[in-house]
Amino acid sequence: MTLDSLLIHGGTLVCMDAARTVTRGDLLVAGGRIVALGSAVPAALAALPDGRAAERFDASGSLVLPGFVHAHLHLCQTLFRGLAEHSDLLRWLREAIWPLEAAHTDASLAASVKLGACELVAGGVTCVNDMGTVHHSDALGQALAETGLRAVFGPALMDQGDRVPPRLLEGADRALASALGVADRWHGAEEGRLRVSLAPRFILSCSEGLWRDVTEASRERGLLVHTHLAESPTEGGEVKAAVGSHAAPYFAKQGVLSPRFVGAHGVWLDDDEIALFKRANAALVHCPGSNLKLGSGLADVRAWKRAGVRRGLGSDGGACNNRLDSFAEMALAAGLARVVHRDDPLNAQDIVALATCDGAEALGLAGEVGSLEAGKQADVAVVRIDRLHHAPFAERDVYTALVHAARDTDVRLTAVQGRVLYRDGTHTTLEPARCAAEAVSEARTLAQRAGFAGAAA
Ligand SMILES: [Zn+2]
Repeated sequence: MTLDSLLIHGGTLVCMDAARTVTRGDLLVAGGRIVALGSAVPAALAALPDGRAAERFDASGSLVLPGFVHAHLHLCQTLFRGLAEHSDLLRWLREAIWPLEAAHTDASLAASVKLGACELVAGGVTCVNDMGTVHHSDALGQALAETGLRAVFGPALMDQGDRVPPRLLEGADRALASALGVADRWHGAEEGRLRVSLAPRFILSCSEGLWRDVTEASRERGLLVHTHLAESPTEGGEVKAAVGSHAAPYFAKQGVLSPRFVGAHGVWLDDDEIALFKRANAALVHCPGSNLKLGSGLADVRAWKRAGVRRGLGSDGGACNNRLDSFAEMALAAGLARVVHRDDPLNAQDIVALATCDGAEALGLAGEVGSLEAGKQADVAVVRIDRLHHAPFAERDVYTALVHAARDTDVRLTAVQGRVLYRDGTHTTLEPARCAAEAVSEARTLAQRAGFAGAAA
């Protein structure tokens, strides 16, 4: 269901196109796509059936920009927020996240997705790259369809691993067949908004045979491969003990790296390993909030950019961040880049790009979304910069305003494919109060099933 037409008028367009155009002007959406910007709007409006847009949005005092792309996320984990604290990566996975994922039902999975989606949509996010859990992928697809978000998603694939609950382990053949079945049912669904990826979780949970089969299926079907790598030092040590090398050379040797590869974290990559990503035109996703909370380390995104590696920004899951907030991630990414490269950091424009056009490019979606350009899908966010925490000179540098001053509560409108999902505090596809109540109820029974007795009280 897309709007006939929507005119967003009176704002400042932050286009994130190749020229990085910033200009006062209007934006016209029709048939789910951006049909005109700025000076081209009057003629395009005149060409509409009755010479005006069906809906108007006054963006005065606001920036109009491409919606944020969350390039690494686990919506199945939103329900675990608060249950898996004060831990590092492997202990967090083995003692909390995997037992909790194993306890999911279709209903708890849907509640987890919708709880997270309420927050994402209200924060200007229009596109997510989500790793599901091993099961309940149809419930995930159905819930994503109901949110109205654009999403790439796929079941996590796990065919081995220390302390993996039996319910999450599948043979490689069955895991891949199940993922391809999900692709048959969901890839291209919802007018193309939903796509399916192959998501082997990480090296420690996937056999060499599974990586080989995933690589071949990705090539044949054109599906993204979404995984984690080089996230924490202890993980790196276990990976080296298991396969004899670090993750990046292992992936390069197996032929896993390709333009369809999206790897989260990459905290512990050296320059030679980053070069492997450039050579394969593979993408990396920076998740600074998660990396800090789990104590994993500081990814060198400046080095990724200098090497020409495709890249995006993500929050990771609700149980390791714990926000699903692009503004928080942008501020952290900017600050960490300044700490790592004091004299040559990423600037605010680079950071906004990471959260929009670069992220879309990393997911292979740059032809459709990631920038405000005529002909592209109308995935748009409107962010006000007229509140006191922006005063007095927000318009002087809109990128700095977005990265260092704006908050998710400054988002006024979020639209995907021209369909308004959120407008001035009101969701149109989700009922936040109901989603929150269902999440609390489902989380309690899920915690009981997982044996987290104290949390279920
Ligand atoms: Zn993750």
